[in-house]
Amino acid sequence: MLDPLTARYGVLGWPVGHSLSPAMMQAAGLSRYQHLPVAPAAFDATVRALGPGGFRGANVTIPHKAAALAAASSASDAARAIGAANTLVYGEDGSIHAENTDAPGFMAALGRVPSSALVLGAGGSARAVVWALTTAGADVSIWNRTRSRAEGLGARVVDEAVPAEVLVNCTSVGLEDSSAPFKDLPLDADGVAEYATVVDLVYRTGGTALIREAVQRGILAVNGLEILVCQGAMSFTLWTGLAAPLDRMRMAARGRPAERGQCIPSPSP
Ligand code: NAP
Repeated sequence: MLDPLTARYGVLGWPVGHSLSPAMMQAAGLSRYQHLPVAPAAFDATVRALGPGGFRGANVTIPHKAAALAAASSASDAARAIGAANTLVYGEDGSIHAENTDAPGFMAALGRVPSSALVLGAGGSARAVVWALTTAGADVSIWNRTRSRAEGLGARVVDEAVPAEVLVNCTSVGLEDSSAPFKDLPLDADGVAEYATVVDLVYRTGGTALIREAVQRGILAVNGLEILVCQGAMSFTLWTGLAAPLDRMRMAARGRPAERGQCIPSPSP
């Protein structure tokens, strides 16, 4: 049997060179975790070749999460309901199991089930966040620039920012941190004060404008790096059966120890 700590791992994406996952997973003890840049046309064949090539697992990022689910031989209920997988587990019998740790990783980083939430965005990450929040029992509203994309995701579609306990940015706005970061969102900087907690899935050096506004106002802020760490910790546990060394992973992802709490790793499949 392969020693899970010495097996091969990687993150599949296109492009993927910017991903912090290799640094984070190597710090966790998976020394053979690597970037796996794969174009969409080559994705299916690559996924099938990884197991025979000594891989025990892979993370999956944009644009391959739906294709990863389709390529797997089995999938968790969460991955099927969300329609996307961010984690693949290779069995020694040639099986490929698809899991989605984005959803529980988000909830672990948030640290509680809110009574209500406003989700901005309707792309892949929003699907996982809306599923996680509604499954946990929160009352969820969703706003998206392209309204039709928000329909059918299981939340109330709104045309403006509505009051809620938690605001979650699942759009890619904030990545560039332009001089007017709120111009593409349905609220301005003062509107941030209406929420008890602000979560931004986007992460960048120096933090996003949304997170900085929340911190300046004394609002609980959860940044995208903590979500990255929590979803990665859950992938680590699925592959190795071990508790993830969260502090080492946070250090690698953020370059400093984190101040926030614990991610609770999900059980093995
Ligand atoms: P995606 O599927 O490409 O969706 C992008 C979303 O952003 C869509 O709702 C899109 O709206 C919206 N959007 C893009 N540009 C916009 C603009 N100028 N104004 C308003 N809305 C805009 O991406 P995703 O996978 O959901 O990822 C979203 C962000 O979350 C990315 O920055 C990604 O890096 C980050 N992320 C972080 C983590 C983590 O672990 N921290 C995990 C997953 C994703 P339309 O539908 O109108 O195009």
